[in-house]
Amino acid sequence: MAGKVNPYEEMKKMVDKAGKTLCIDPGMVEVLKSPKRELTVNFPVKMDDGSVRVLTGYRVQHNEARGPFKGGIRYHPQVDIDEVRALASWMTWKTAVVDIPYGGAKGGIICNPKTMSVGEIERMTRRYASEISIIIGPTKDIPAPDVNTSGREMAWIMDTFSMHVGFACPGVITGKPKEIGGSLGRPEATSRGLVFCVREAAKKTGMNLKGATVAIQGYGNVGAFAHKLIERDFGCKVIAVSDSQGGIVSEKALRYDEVWAHKQKTGAVKNFPGTKPISNEALLELKVDILLPCALENVITKENAGKIKAKISGEGANGPTTFEADAILAKNGVLVLPDILANAGGVTVSYFEWVQNNYNFYWTEDEVNQKLDSVITKAFHEVWDMHEKHKCNMRDAAYLVAVKRVADATRTRGFYP
Ligand code: NAD
Repeated sequence: MAGKVNPYEEMKKMVDKAGKTLCIDPGMVEVLKSPKRELTVNFPVKMDDGSVRVLTGYRVQHNEARGPFKGGIRYHPQVDIDEVRALASWMTWKTAVVDIPYGGAKGGIICNPKTMSVGEIERMTRRYASEISIIIGPTKDIPAPDVNTSGREMAWIMDTFSMHVGFACPGVITGKPKEIGGSLGRPEATSRGLVFCVREAAKKTGMNLKGATVAIQGYGNVGAFAHKLIERDFGCKVIAVSDSQGGIVSEKALRYDEVWAHKQKTGAVKNFPGTKPISNEALLELKVDILLPCALENVITKENAGKIKAKISGEGANGPTTFEADAILAKNGVLVLPDILANAGGVTVSYFEWVQNNYNFYWTEDEVNQKLDSVITKAFHEVWDMHEKHKCNMRDAAYLVAVKRVADATRTRGFYP
């Protein structure tokens, strides 16, 4: 996933840049860039054939100046410590941009769950949860799902942690199934936050969303729900979508219900009737009003940034645009809605889930969605105002908002001892 660009180095460049604009002391910038705690665990898992494999996992806790650590757990063969560090720090900036009282963390296991049985995944998950239980907890560090983990894994982690402490502890993790304290509205929350940002950007730029053309890269949790919501709530015309097996493009609108049913039936979006195939690279360069990269890191680079024709690029994925590509997009007038703002809907509703768990008092889906709208809309306008004040792009503006909040909190707490 990390590709040729090291995402941790990319993150540090962004913080250096924000630190300079905000005239933050270099020592403080070092504090803001450095992960506070990194745990590596090598642990045994019994496989179905009776053999034992030793797997490696991480939990990186980047910063807790504004509240407990928060961030997902990823299962992927290409997980590495720098990727986890970058993802952990993006969580610090994301929770600060939307002003929810959390810090940032991330975890991962180097594994390929697609080649493992459900039993092997469960034993791996429970042992990893047990290994990291020394640093997680409902007041310390609250994990959540990420790539290749879902409500099922969150339930096992909640159960394992609860067995350790001796009582049911739903607040240790978010993204749980709703039978054990998951929040209504969580599955669609990241995409809902993304389309709220697109809505506000359209108002600012005078774009009429009804009939606006859209291309979506990635058709998983974030991409598919973004298709559903942008079509249903704003009348946009989605003309291209893709997944890891390739993309499809059409002159007519692709209907969410039909494409989703096709993907459920065949396992991919390709070969959807009445469409032409398109590669993932070519999809990014289509002449559309709105591009939504919702798959992987580093897909918009200095090589292809000059060919992006969309007016708005809303980042559902974490880190889809490299540092150098950003400057090219800004020069060409592409309005980028940066990941730490545009995909913060997921962690915002995770925060709502944790609040509901801690209070043992649950909200309706409408309440969740309305509260999400207020948080994301407020954050969008704070970032927009910073973008106008400093005449910088939206990513730089989002980092200015976030880095200032975390630096202020750190300064207010002071350095112990
Ligand atoms: P997912 O596993 O549900 O879906 C990923 C999608 O990307 C799948 O359709 C997959 O086929 C596709 N994909 C994989 N490789 C691809 C490639 N080379 N080209 C095009 N498509 C490819 O994951 P998700 O939860 O939708 O997450 C997607 C991105 O959004 C990740 O960067 C993740 O970190 C980020 N994100 C997710 C959430 C969330 O709540 N799920 C929140 C914030 C950010």
